[in-house]
Amino acid sequence: MRSTMMDAPLQISRILDHGSTVHGTAEVVTWTGAEPRRMTYAEVGRAAARLAHALRDECGVTGDERVATFMWNNAEHLVAYFAVPSMGAVLHTLNIRLFPDQVAYIANHAEDRVVLVDSTLIPLLAKVIGDMTTVRHVVVAGGGDPAPLVAAAGDRISVHHWDALLDGRPDTYDWREVDERDAAALCYTSGTTGNPKGVAYSHRSIYLHSLQVCTPEGFGLGPTDRTLAIVPMFHAMSWGLPYAALFSGASLIMPDRFLQAAPIAEMIIAEHPTLAGAVPTIWNDLLAYLDSHEVDTSSLAEVIVGGSACPPALMHAFEERHGIRVIHAWGMTETSPLGSVARPPAGASGEDAWRYRYTQGRVPAGVEARIVGPLAEPLPADGTSVGELEVRGPWVTGRYVGDETPDEEKFRDGWLRTGDVGTLSPDGYITLTDRAKDVIKSGGEWISSVELENALMAHPDVVEACVVGVPDERWGERPLATVVLREGAGVGAQELRDFLAASVARWQLPERWAVIDAVPKTSVGKFDKKVVRSRYAEGGLEVRELAAP
Ligand code: ADP
Repeated sequence: MRSTMMDAPLQISRILDHGSTVHGTAEVVTWTGAEPRRMTYAEVGRAAARLAHALRDECGVTGDERVATFMWNNAEHLVAYFAVPSMGAVLHTLNIRLFPDQVAYIANHAEDRVVLVDSTLIPLLAKVIGDMTTVRHVVVAGGGDPAPLVAAAGDRISVHHWDALLDGRPDTYDWREVDERDAAALCYTSGTTGNPKGVAYSHRSIYLHSLQVCTPEGFGLGPTDRTLAIVPMFHAMSWGLPYAALFSGASLIMPDRFLQAAPIAEMIIAEHPTLAGAVPTIWNDLLAYLDSHEVDTSSLAEVIVGGSACPPALMHAFEERHGIRVIHAWGMTETSPLGSVARPPAGASGEDAWRYRYTQGRVPAGVEARIVGPLAEPLPADGTSVGELEVRGPWVTGRYVGDETPDEEKFRDGWLRTGDVGTLSPDGYITLTDRAKDVIKSGGEWISSVELENALMAHPDVVEACVVGVPDERWGERPLATVVLREGAGVGAQELRDFLAASVARWQLPERWAVIDAVPKTSVGKFDKKVVRSRYAEGGLEVRELAAP
């Protein structure tokens, strides 16, 4: 029997229409360092229509051409997020922090036709525009001299100014009806491991993902929220916050290029966010700032931390010292990115609830998760069997852009192999111990680098700790602990190891220690363990070796 339901495609233009009318008075606030800029969602709707007209009439975007963005989190980027897919084209968010040759590689791979760029990023784009062979148009948002772009790319590209290009165009657009399974947006993995690979989200997957972001089990976005979206729109779609915002009527506070702790604290004071999302590194910096400055954070009920494992010490510090609840979440570019959120089950309280909150959480309805062993055999969800996490679902990618068939290293029998290692509990909580390539294999046993890092970061003198496996004659591999110490702290390796011994098995305790100024980070602020390993291999670290414990 067929259903009697109407068939309306799940498409992004419907989210835009809804957000810009029903929630037309909600706003996107863009930080400028001085007076913030404000734009209502009704204005976002009109600007999106104007941009679509301009892209069609001046830049020849009539089908599924790729329109790239090279932008910070701001109102214009939000307009592009909606205009480009709504007109049937494909939004491609370029990661401004990748190496220039990677940016060019990605733009060419995606065959980008247009690039929308913030004027403050002109110097950065000028370095790569010459190598972007398919780009024909660049649109500059904000006043700035585009001469470096013209100098680099010559007359192969036409340069337009955002305001002049949109000025006078109609503020409605007859959004195309699309096939909901067609691509709406493209994002390339940041290449923590290997070359960036493209993921094409569909209208349908973004729509379903937005629903999920808005549920109380997800991020719980609603019309009374003001969401500080620190996680970049050029990385994993800012965790879906821009789409979820117009979906739910939550206002957005966009930091633009002001990502340091001091301006973020100012945004909190001035704009009263209720919710915020960022990687642990950002929260770590903000914590140090909050600890030493008077900041009214009373509006901020929850912050979402994901992208890397959130150290429990960070969660406790935010909650106990500043009254801000930290919610731990896991996801990947490949999973749109929201995979799991660590909210404790009904009835859990006290220490029990905390234990749930340290995990990576549960996947939402629609996404399935399983743990598999080395021979691809599914392992029991018993909370102790350790293996690779695999997921599948309607907003999980089934292959990479350009691949005819799924890459066997990343996909198996219709499941995405996440490369993350951990356990699954009978009640569905994922606990990740490491990335497969970061697990330290010591004499046939596995040591979790993340567990050692979390334990070390609980020491009051340790700001950051990054643990990697390094070659060892006897054991194959052993952990090397690199630590960043609080200014003026004099704690030594032996003392740190004694501290670790209270919570970590003796055989896992590192012999090799190095104090460093800062942990090297990837383009999206994650610990770059590749760099730490090669620094060690090249003898670039001052390593203190303790006798075996
Ligand atoms: P990249 O692979 O380039 O870092 P992604 O941003 O897609 O790009 O990263 C996804 C990966 O980030 C996951 O596979 C996982 O290893 C890590 N990750 C994300 N969230 C968490 C978390 N809460 N705990 C541990 N690891 C996480």
